[in-house]
Amino acid sequence: MFRPPRTNLSPLPRTVPQPTAMSYDVLILGGGPAGAAAALQLARAGHRVAVLEKTAFPRFHVGESLIPADTDVFQRLGLADALAPDALPQVRKDGVEFLSGDGAHGNRIKFADGLNPHGAATVSFNAERAPLDAALLTAATGAGAKLFANARVESILRLTDGDVAVQTAAGLFEGRYLIDATGQGAVIGRHLKQRRHFEHAALRKIAYFGHFENVDRDNALGDDEISMVLCDEGWFWMIPIDDRRVSIGMVLDSDVAKDVQRRAQPKGSLPNHQMLAWGIARCPLIAQRTQNATCPEKNHVASDFSYTCAPYSGPGHFLVGDAATFLDPVFSTGIFLGLESALDAADRLDRVLKGTLSPARARAGYNAFVKRATQHFFKLIQAFYAPAFRDLFLDGTGPLSMHRAAITLLAGHVLPRPRLAVRWRMAAFYACVRVQGCFPLVKRKPSYALQTATPTPPKPRPARPAPRRQPLADLRRPLPTGK
Ligand SMILES: Cc1cc2nc3c(=O)[nH]c(=O)nc-3n(C[C@H](O)[C@H](O)[C@H](O)COP(=O)(O)OP(=O)(O)OC[C@H]3O[C@@H](n4cnc5c(N)ncnc54)[C@H](O)[C@@H]3O)c2cc1C
Repeated sequence: MFRPPRTNLSPLPRTVPQPTAMSYDVLILGGGPAGAAAALQLARAGHRVAVLEKTAFPRFHVGESLIPADTDVFQRLGLADALAPDALPQVRKDGVEFLSGDGAHGNRIKFADGLNPHGAATVSFNAERAPLDAALLTAATGAGAKLFANARVESILRLTDGDVAVQTAAGLFEGRYLIDATGQGAVIGRHLKQRRHFEHAALRKIAYFGHFENVDRDNALGDDEISMVLCDEGWFWMIPIDDRRVSIGMVLDSDVAKDVQRRAQPKGSLPNHQMLAWGIARCPLIAQRTQNATCPEKNHVASDFSYTCAPYSGPGHFLVGDAATFLDPVFSTGIFLGLESALDAADRLDRVLKGTLSPARARAGYNAFVKRATQHFFKLIQAFYAPAFRDLFLDGTGPLSMHRAAITLLAGHVLPRPRLAVRWRMAAFYACVRVQGCFPLVKRKPSYALQTATPTPPKPRPARPAPRRQPLADLRRPLPTGK
């Protein structure tokens, strides 16, 4: 940690230059959900915390759908009121509908039907990320964390236990430890050259997304539930985020996306920012629900998002949220894993700073925690991309309430570990998926391919700037910063 040299002299006169570095117990790089949760917890524990954030909040971010396990975390953190519907525009989420691209097959799940632990939440919400993330960061600054906006971390100068330093666009910061919560930026993972892709080809994806208005939101589960629409080449999400807007996105295999763009005629006529419109035109279900909608002129793009930066901690640092690892967005587990990893790292770091836990033990415990928290989702995600999984999953119910075990995982109730009733049923379910791959246990579902589909003429119209119908209260104002 930076400390001014000890002297017996009286305080320096004002004209003498002050040390240029700003000194804290913990530097938190990145102010997304994971960084905010870690900052909140450490500030509440009495530590001097600086959050160094590249942007000025509120800022756009993908990932608007939460799972019931997030609700439990917010409750634990005392944030239920700050994130209640009267404080944050949102849409209640009780379940999910999974449909084939032509709408011919589907399955609706309700989180309440899972084999959930006693008292665990069965409801969550969807919300625009800008105000949601701003609300979380406001809670952290309210607890005493100092926020430095426009403070992009540019280089790591020191990284050892008890002494870290980073150079940012807003100056030099020193501390005793740092937590990397820079999301896909994965600043420390890249600095240490630890960021690497998973070997599974099925996880190499690219996503195209944007916010639409006037979408037909009436689905089979009831108005406003989220829809996941499955095709051979990937899947779409439709997530209502407030009373006006629906987030729509398409996730494709990277190779398929390149191929589609290469074949487009005339050459170069299908840039990345038009890919969502390409997909919607070929997906009858979404084309129909968006026929009267307005859409963004250009879609956003996220690629290359599945990787690990393990080991998740090392001398002077912990990696949390996406800065540690990101699997795949299909089951909306990103924010939950970000929050849980941040809280676990913060708790261990608190004990290290208070001298009741050695850094080595904190690291061993934390690395094991992240592995344990991610492994159940990882297995489910890998299985999801096998056609046999979809055959069984879209079938609805299974013997021995196996489907209820899968719903429990989709609700996110995996910590500290899934109940025995869930674990053995999931083992049986994965065995059935393997068998289904060779001998059909249930009728194979005809797949739906975008590439061979006849496109419907594009209907969604580019959006005009719309009047704000729902006040976002203070959440849209820039957050007060440490400067
Ligand atoms: C296509 C897609 C869809 C998704 N859908 C969902 C979903 O529905 N539900 C869900 O739960 N999750 C979803 N996710 C994942 C989710 O968005 C992330 O898991 C979540 O945002 C992780 O939070 P975080 O705090 O770790 O990182 P982030 O939210 O990304 O926050 C990181 C912060 O660090 C800042 N930063 C970056 N680099 C620097 C730097 N050099 N210096 C300082 N600051 C920096 C960024 O500006 C950002 O504010 C999705 C992801 C993708 C790719």
